[in-house]
Formats: sequence, structure tokens, C-alpha cells
Amino acid sequence: MFRRFFSRFGLLAALALPLGFAASSCTDKDGNPLLFSLEDDIALGDQVAAETDSTYRAQGKLVERASNARAYQLLDAVVNRVLNSSDIQHRNDFAWDVKIIKEDSTQNAFATPGGHIYVFTGLIKYLDDESQLAGVLGHEIAHADRRHTSRQLQNQYGIQLLLSVALGNSESTAAQIASGLAGLGSLKFSRDFENEADQYSVIYLNGPGYYACDGAAGFFIKAQSQGQASPPEFLSTHPNPDNRIQAIQTKATELNCRNRTVNSSDLRELQRLL
Ligand SMILES: [Zn+2]
Repeated sequence: MFRRFFSRFGLLAALALPLGFAASSCTDKDGNPLLFSLEDDIALGDQVAAETDSTYRAQGKLVERASNARAYQLLDAVVNRVLNSSDIQHRNDFAWDVKIIKEDSTQNAFATPGGHIYVFTGLIKYLDDESQLAGVLGHEIAHADRRHTSRQLQNQYGIQLLLSVALGNSESTAAQIASGLAGLGSLKFSRDFENEADQYSVIYLNGPGYYACDGAAGFFIKAQSQGQASPPEFLSTHPNPDNRIQAIQTKATELNCRNRTVNSSDLRELQRLL
């Protein structure tokens, strides 16, 4: 699948990227320009999303929009309030669609490159208020908008990835990314990317002025208070809750957007519907 994605652009294009890449605001951890173009992010994300959809649909776990219109209306409203932030760079470039996966035992969410968002019912049912949901969604939206998957792939594999893909050795890369993002595989974002996503979650929630902008911290506080007996899945892909709560709250205090009271009746209705 990954090979098909790259063959669309061709071996020549893939190899020419490092040479011909113009200055970009997106860089890897060493400050090198990102080899993946925005179009590559979108094409890769479409494949990862197709892979994710077919995996969960085959298990009967993909909550279909057609038969769950009200649930999606409620969830879309939260996503759109986060996306209303003017700090989203690729608001008009990426898909920004959201899908629900019916798995009550999984308290997790993730976003593919190109902005396809997935939320497990276990997370939605776990949360206490809508700012927490918006905070976690903001964090995932930041991973996509800041292009963390592409940057992570470049950090880990660099030019080798492009070469192996061009030579056709990475058929299952899209599938691996899909399971990695869902917390099942080996793809883990670096601590820097996790911290950046936390910071942008606060920034996104601050902009539209609707949610308490430290909502993501609320999730970590709740997860910690539950103890180690059954930690949410999100914690396995998002470790170090102590430091993160503090960093999120420091940023939120700096932006003076912590103390907003949100009516969570929509979240309650969404929880009842799932
Ligand atoms: Zn994350």
C-alpha cells in the first residue's frame, strides 16, 4: 500500500525531494527540512485511514455515520470548536473527519497524518466533562497538524525509508502505522512531540474561548487518580502524566484560559448514545 502511495509520485520524485525541497517551517528533530510533502502526508493518511476503517469495520466496531447521526453531530461539534482555532496551520488542507470505534475497554484516541481522527467509545465514556474531551482531541489534532508522524518517520528512518519504499520493500508500512497510532504497534511519538502536542492542545482551546484550555490535563489527573490497577490505554502511548499535567497547567495559566465552565450536557448525551 505504501508502495502504491509512493509510486503515484514516482521514484524520481522521491529521490529528488531531498535535493529540491524548498524551505519549510516543518523540520525534523535536527532542524532538517521535512522530506515528506504535504501531499505525501495526505496520501499516507488516506491509506492509514482506509486500513484503520477496514480493520475495525471487519470487527463490527466502526460506528457508522449513517446509522448514528446524532452521536456524530455531538462529536463533530466538539471537534469543530477545537478546529476553529486560528493556530491550526492545515485547517483547509487536511480532511479533519472523525470516526468512533466501539470498544469500551479502550480509553484512547489518535489521528493519522492528513487529519483523520479516531476516538474509542472507552475514552468518551471515561471523561467527566467536555473540556477534557476537547483537550484530548486538541492533542491528537496537534499530532496531525504539526505533522508528527512524518517527522517521526524521518527521524527514525531518514532517507532509508524513502529508498526502501521506492524499492518496494514496505508494502505493510501503512498497516504498521495504523496499528502503531492505535497503540498496538511500535510507533511511538518522542517525548518532544508529546510535549508539543500538549502545548498546542492548550493553544487551540484558548483561541475559540469555549473550553477550559487545560482540558487535556483533566484527563491525566483523572487517569492518575484511578491508580495503576487499570490505567487508560492512552497512558501507555502517552507516559509521564506528572510532568505533563504541570506543563499543560503552566501554559494554560500563562494564557489565562483555565477557568472556563463548560456545559457538558452534550457529552452526557453522547455517552448515553454509545
Ligand atoms: Zn500524543
